[in-house]
Amino acid sequence: MNLADVIRTIPDYPKPGIMFRDITTLLGDARAFRRAVDELVQPFAGMKIDKVAGIEARGFILGGAVAHQLSAGFIPLRKKGKLPHRTRAVEYALEYGSDAMEMHLDAVKPGEKVMLVDDLIATGGTALAAAQLLKEAGAQIVAAAFVVDLPELGGAARLAAAGVPVSTLVAFAGH
Ligand code: AMP
Repeated sequence: MNLADVIRTIPDYPKPGIMFRDITTLLGDARAFRRAVDELVQPFAGMKIDKVAGIEARGFILGGAVAHQLSAGFIPLRKKGKLPHRTRAVEYALEYGSDAMEMHLDAVKPGEKVMLVDDLIATGGTALAAAQLLKEAGAQIVAAAFVVDLPELGGAARLAAAGVPVSTLVAFAGH
């Protein structure tokens, strides 16, 4: 089975020129979902990862499954205003404007080994913001794993240049 074949592409969503890589079709296919989680976990199986951090919202679905399989804890990285306890926040640039991501202050202890998970890396802005939050909390980021890479947008290279080992399962050309 080829994971790329079970990812649906929706042209011009959410705006003209974007090819939206929709992983709901992968998640809805039992064999594909299991395969994707197995492949995300496989390189890190022996690494004693303490926690998996997932980026809202699709990173929760994949990250939760990855955390379960690694017997690790799970950290939700959420949009501003969603977490109920004390948080640290980071602002990051979007194509138009900016957004903020938050994490509970006590979500990670200094020195803990954390793996970052999201569905897709494009420019890397979201993942770099997540990595910054985790590093500020003292986490050791041992890996960042994504189902989809859009290499032409340079995010995986940017994250690697920031010292985060990146692993991706499927690459698509273009935006
Ligand atoms: P970026 O910060 O540019 O790396 O964008 C990554 C975030 O935006 C991820 O959380 C993705 O879910 C979402 N995203 C960006 N581009 C796409 C795309 N072409 N298809 C689906 N999701 C995308």
